Amino acid sequence: MKTYEEWQRLAAEITIPNQAYINGQFVSALSGETFDCVNPSTETVLAKVSSTDSADVDVAVEAAGKAFKSGVWSKMAPRDRKNIMLKWADLLAQHQDEFAVLDTLDMGKSISEMVDIDIPDSIDCIRWTAEGIDKLYGEIAPTNGQNLALISHEPIGVVAAITPWNYPLMMATWKIAPALAAGNSVILKPSEKSPLSVLRLAELATQAGMPDGVFNVLPGFGHTAGKALALHHDVQVLAFTGSTRVAGMLMEYSGQSNLKRVWIEAGGKSPCLVFDDYKDIVKAAQGAAAAIFTNQGEVCIACSRLYVQSSIKDAFMVELIKASKAYVPGDPLNPATNMGPLVDKNQMDTMAKFINSAQQDGATLLLGGLPEYQEGKGFFVNPTIFADAKNQMKFVREEIFGPVLAVSTFDTEEEGVALANDSKYGLGASIWTSDLSRAHRVSRQLESGMVWVNTWGDGDTTVPFGGVKASGNGRDKSLHAMEKYTELKNVWIRL
Ligand code: NAD
Repeated sequence: MKTYEEWQRLAAEITIPNQAYINGQFVSALSGETFDCVNPSTETVLAKVSSTDSADVDVAVEAAGKAFKSGVWSKMAPRDRKNIMLKWADLLAQHQDEFAVLDTLDMGKSISEMVDIDIPDSIDCIRWTAEGIDKLYGEIAPTNGQNLALISHEPIGVVAAITPWNYPLMMATWKIAPALAAGNSVILKPSEKSPLSVLRLAELATQAGMPDGVFNVLPGFGHTAGKALALHHDVQVLAFTGSTRVAGMLMEYSGQSNLKRVWIEAGGKSPCLVFDDYKDIVKAAQGAAAAIFTNQGEVCIACSRLYVQSSIKDAFMVELIKASKAYVPGDPLNPATNMGPLVDKNQMDTMAKFINSAQQDGATLLLGGLPEYQEGKGFFVNPTIFADAKNQMKFVREEIFGPVLAVSTFDTEEEGVALANDSKYGLGASIWTSDLSRAHRVSRQLESGMVWVNTWGDGDTTVPFGGVKASGNGRDKSLHAMEKYTELKNVWIRL
């Protein structure tokens, strides 16, 4: 790991990409418009980035469609496609420090988290998915002997990926790697709050040998570039990660246009259940704190609802407060920092709004509280914990997407499960128990796409990621992600 000074030096030296990437080259938006990309630690403008809109979307979709139809990528020998993607992953690995700095400057994530999580995960996602390209076969159905039925997985066409700002590089690779591996052309619209790293990633794709038009990046706003992509008749798949509110809009856009497939990874309000049989209270408390304060709470699977079994509440809360105080906001370029700033002032205001509502609803503030904002000094906030939370309180029901934890208690396992399931969301859940049967029993009952037992947030490219209920459909990662970007085709032959 580099030192603080070394990261600062690199941050001062790197070239910040600021144009859209269409058909194998950097271009400005046709309108000439730009938007400011702001460093949330200092509130200084990092770059004026091309603000694409529907005119640029038309150009990119045409280029992507043309590349798809030509077969340069969609019909390339699988082994060759694999080798280009593996080279792409190697280039990302070669430039990993630059990518780490880009996301840290852009959205405030700590550099150590970039180095430990986002970068290795993104490289592995591209590499692992690429390796699958020439190892997936079609099927022959067991029909009767007079017929032969062949089933193959075909690429679909132009895939638009629309991604959020909280893990800019990682969320993008989870979509673009399987979509490209399957042979599609891809247009990525990153969040307007963190567009930088994926622009550089597009440049590396060309360097790795990916043909022009196959991977394009359109920085811009949701209501302009994003909406135009979602309504476009020549986009066949929309792969989205972001809020549940916008996910609903995308489904409507699909209905209003060409019924394009809409894959959704949306919001969450994940529960953490701590049972009194769990042997190590300190470990459980550290786990519960990490589950809400990692990445400043800007994590879709953040366990923002904590339910502790009543009999251990007092002892547990002492440890929870201790563990939470270890999260100290600071310059995210410092490898010792474990909590950077929130992404922008809006996010800070949202946090303040929910803290006020928690207090009005009668929850008890135990740690942190309203952010103290000083203009020009960054959007730094403290870990905040409320006890005596009730499921009907607004701050317990709605996603805050910041470091605010709601704690309440339960007496029985049945009550704990009922409280955990009492949410419109169903993304992740974490349970802490030393009872193996209870671990299985509770995991089965939780209405959640993912359950972590005696841990939180762990994952691997081999394991699917995604939620149920208002948290989404389909899955990122693993071979299941490839299914999202392929169409099944049958050929029936009478012998
Ligand atoms: P967001 O929904 O505001 O924006 C996500 C993306 O959608 C951005 O690129 C944005 O520009 C675009 N967008 C906005 N309006 C649009 C429109 N009308 N048409 C087309 N595109 C539009 O979400 P965000 O604030 O960037 O990210 C935070 C949210 O993402 C949280 O709800 C979080 O839980 C969720 N998230 C989910 C997962 C998951 O895997 N389930 C992972 C990370 C983040």
